[in-house]
Amino acid sequence: MFVCNQCGECCRNLDKSEIYRKLDRGDGICVYLEKNKCSIYDNRPLFCRVDDCYKKYFQSKYTLEEFYRLNYQVCEKLQKIKGG
Ligand code: SF4
Ligand code: SF4
Repeated sequence: MFVCNQCGECCRNLDKSEIYRKLDRGDGICVYLEKNKCSIYDNRPLFCRVDDCYKKYFQSKYTLEEFYRLNYQVCEKLQKIKGG
């Protein structure tokens, strides 16, 4: 399972990816982010679900480990931007 430390950075940087544009409240932050948590977590879109996205779109391209590694790289990048 993908391990998320719940930093919330992916939900605050939606302007960096076209697929999240519809959720962007205008400043890169998701309209559903409340107190750093997803307010629609159980019903969040497919593209917010790492494991489900993998099954649907990426399993023929990457192994699960590779896909997780790519995702962790993005998490680290976003966390570094925040940290300056
Ligand atoms: S950036 Fe990564 S670690 Fe942080 S909340 Fe998003 S998925 Fe989780
Ligand atoms: S719907 Fe939830 S998980 Fe997806 S970007 Fe918004 S707050 Fe984050």
